[in-house]
Amino acid sequence: MIRTVRVGLQARGYDVLIGSGLLDQAGGRIAPLLKRGRTAVVSDTRVWALHGARLAASLEAAGVAVSPVLVPPGEQTKSWEGLAEVCDRLLALELDRGDLIVAFGGGVVGDLAGFAAAIYKRGIDFVQIPTTLLAQVDSSVGGKTAIDTPRGKNLIGAFHQPRLVLADLDVLSTLSDREMRAGYAEVIKYGLLGDFEFFGWLEAHGPAVLARDPQALAHAVARSVEMKAEIVAEDEKEAGRRALLNLGHTFGHALEAETGYGEALLHGEAVAAGSAIAFRFSASQGLCAGQDAARAEAAIAAAGLPTGLGAVADKPFAADALVRHMAQDKKAEGGKLTFVLARGLGETFVAKDVNPETVRRFLIAEGALP
Ligand code: NAD
Repeated sequence: MIRTVRVGLQARGYDVLIGSGLLDQAGGRIAPLLKRGRTAVVSDTRVWALHGARLAASLEAAGVAVSPVLVPPGEQTKSWEGLAEVCDRLLALELDRGDLIVAFGGGVVGDLAGFAAAIYKRGIDFVQIPTTLLAQVDSSVGGKTAIDTPRGKNLIGAFHQPRLVLADLDVLSTLSDREMRAGYAEVIKYGLLGDFEFFGWLEAHGPAVLARDPQALAHAVARSVEMKAEIVAEDEKEAGRRALLNLGHTFGHALEAETGYGEALLHGEAVAAGSAIAFRFSASQGLCAGQDAARAEAAIAAAGLPTGLGAVADKPFAADALVRHMAQDKKAEGGKLTFVLARGLGETFVAKDVNPETVRRFLIAEGALP
C-alpha cells in the first residue's frame, strides 16, 4: 500500500509517497515531470552501490536517460567544494532547465543536490528519493536545502521545494541500526513537539519501528511526514510555527559543534539528547511537569538514544562553550537564546528570550563543567 501526503503549497505543492516498492515505480512516476526524458541522479557512492541499479532500471524502463553524479558519503560532502563539483558535473552533462535532478540518498545528498538544483541555471526541478529514515521523515520534505561552511552548519542555502518525494521503505533494510535510531530521534521529536497521541503510540510501537516492521514503519513515517507537511504548508519560510520543528536543535547543535559534526555524534543522536535536555530545562523552569520530562527521556532512552551530556562524549562539555555555540545559532537574537520549550508532552512553543546565564547554570546542573 502506498500512502500519499500532500504538501499544500499551491503552485509549489507536491506529493510525498510512502511505501514499499517505490524505487521500482520511480520511472513511471518521474517520467511525466520531464520535458525531454533526462535526469541527473545525485547520490553517494554507498547508496548508489546498494540501490542504484534498481533505480536506474526503473527510470530507463520508463524511457528516462540516467546520468549518475556520485559524491563520497558523509557530512564533509555538503561543502562549497562538494557543491562546485556537483554543479560542474551538471554543466558537463549539459543538463537543461527542462531536465530534472534526482536526489537519491540521505539528508546529505538531499541538502546538497537540492541546493545545486536551487541555483543551477537559476533553478531546476528536483525529486527527492530519501534513503535514510531521517531523510524520509524530515530532510526530504519542506524544501530546506543547504551546505556547511567552516563557520557552521547549513549556513548557505535556499528554500527550494521538490516536485515529488518518493520514500521507499524497502531501502531502509540496508541502513545500519545506528542510522536507524538516529532517524527515529526525529520521529519521536514529532510526537513530543505536537502530537501526544502519536507519542503514546511510539512508546508502545517504537521497538517495532526500529525493527523495521513494515506496518509500524509505514505509520511512523507517514505520521511524521503528515506533521511536517502540515507545518510547512502553514509556514514555509519559518516565520513562526515551523520553528517548532527545531525541538532539541539548539542544545543538539551545540553538542554537534563540540563533537565535530561527525561519527562521534550523529545529527539525530544530537537531536535526541537535545530534546530530552529541552524537556528537562522546561521542567526546571516550571514550564512543564517533571513527570513529562521523565517520560520524554524514557522514550528516547528506550530507543537506545542519548538523553544527556554524559552519554555523548568521553570528556565533559564546558558550559561556556555550549552557550557560545547557542548564541551563534541562526535563531539567536539580541543576546537572548531561542529554544523550543515544552508545556507538556505534545505541547511546545518557541521561547526567544531565554537568558544565557540561566542556561549556563542549568547545564552545570546537567553535568557540564562550570
Ligand atoms: P547521510 O546522508 O550522511 O546518511 C547517513 C549514512 O547512511 C551515509 O553514510 C549514507 O551513505 C548511508 N546511507 C544512506 N542511505 C542508506 C541505505 N538505504 N542503506 C545503507 N546506507 C545508507 O545522513 P542523514 O542522517 O540522512 O542526513 C543528515 C543530514 O541531513 C545533515 O547534513 C543535516 O543537516 C541534514 N538535515 C536536513 C534537514 C532539512 O530540512 N533540509 C533536516 C534534517 C537534517
